[in-house]
Amino acid sequence: MNDCQTLIVGGGMLGSALAFGLSRVGSADGVLMLDQGDSSLRAARGNFGLLWAQGKGASLPAYADWTLRSCRLWPEFARELQALTGIDLQLRQQGGIHYCLSEQEQEAYGRELAQQAALSQGAFDYRLLDNEGLRKLEPHIGRSVPGGAYSPNDGHVNPLYLLRALHAGFIARGGRYRPNHQVQSILRTREGFVLHTEQGELRTERLILTAGLDNARLAPMVGLQQPLLSQRGQLLITERLPPLLNYPSIYLRQTGDGTLQIGDSAEPDAHDDRNTPEVMAELARRALLLLPMLEHRRIVRGWGALRILSPDGYPLYAAEDPSLGRARAFAFSAHSGVTLAAIHALELAPQLLRDGIPQPVSAFSPQRFEG
Ligand SMILES: Cc1cc2nc3c(=O)[nH]c(=O)nc-3n(C[C@H](O)[C@H](O)[C@H](O)COP(=O)(O)OP(=O)(O)OC[C@H]3O[C@@H](n4cnc5c(N)ncnc54)[C@H](O)[C@@H]3O)c2cc1C
Repeated sequence: MNDCQTLIVGGGMLGSALAFGLSRVGSADGVLMLDQGDSSLRAARGNFGLLWAQGKGASLPAYADWTLRSCRLWPEFARELQALTGIDLQLRQQGGIHYCLSEQEQEAYGRELAQQAALSQGAFDYRLLDNEGLRKLEPHIGRSVPGGAYSPNDGHVNPLYLLRALHAGFIARGGRYRPNHQVQSILRTREGFVLHTEQGELRTERLILTAGLDNARLAPMVGLQQPLLSQRGQLLITERLPPLLNYPSIYLRQTGDGTLQIGDSAEPDAHDDRNTPEVMAELARRALLLLPMLEHRRIVRGWGALRILSPDGYPLYAAEDPSLGRARAFAFSAHSGVTLAAIHALELAPQLLRDGIPQPVSAFSPQRFEG
């Protein structure tokens, strides 16, 4: 006998958004979400909190479209989640700025955004800015920053409150969450799946793998592929400061609590989430260039976390063949799980119950890496 109808492995940003999404369409009581414990690698607890469409998908229009649609769903998604859980996600979505640190970078970024806008057929909107234009939006930005771009769809949230709210919303609607249940192996049977966990055996009819980097190990056990690479990102946090920034960027954002979050590095092939003095010094140097008035402000903490990347950086959505009937496995990995949380919950989750992975995102199939 099955322990649940749908079992989600991994209670991070993807698993929780899908779990919450399934609970919205009325099937939470049949859903069980397993997770590891506090010492595991969890990008959901170490990320930067941006909802970011600019610069995403210039070479894969389906991703640009999916990302932009998710950003546009965010206000509705946040309203619903906040009303259900009472947790303020600290959503601010008045647009975001990308800073270019050299003239060359500015030119290349301008070309990239022009391509993104052309492919979006008018849906993606942006404005290139010189230093004066930047300083009109952000008066404290340093005079040596050559320029950047503003796009109105971007924003930011508190990612820890988001994760907590997704769990709370899922549980409030009858879903079951079990931490300290690392899945060790999975067996495919004709009726479904048998999972061996650190707490014993569990059976399910439908399986959703959202185990972050561990998807690379688990997915082949059910015949799916999730080729993944890790990349470490380190972040710094300042003391609480008076309002200094109006817009988030990938380098700096002022959180709802007043601290400044300084990001972030991109260190390939990392296998631990340590902070290193060299990278922290580089992050602080760049932050000072952008915002010279940070010079005498204190850094109060920092952390590292591992990104979950496919070889081309785009999402990996995999599904067993629908001809297998109701018992079916899915596997999902994506770098921008915060940005995509809205569309994962509101559109992908209900679709999974109906026909599987929707047509427009078949572009994210791992088959693109085969032969
Ligand atoms: C430094 C950094 C900055 C980022 N900034 C942003 C940003 O600004 N905006 C944005 O949209 N995205 C950002 N991201 C990416 C975002 O955090 C990830 O896309 C998202 O967390 C991925 O979600 P996930 O559920 O796949 O993985 P995770 O969030 O890592 O969750 C995976 C979960 O699965 C559990 N698990 C793993 N193996 C098993 C197992 N065998 N059994 C049971 N459970 C298991 C883990 O414990 C974990 O809880 C950033 C990431 C990093 C590292």
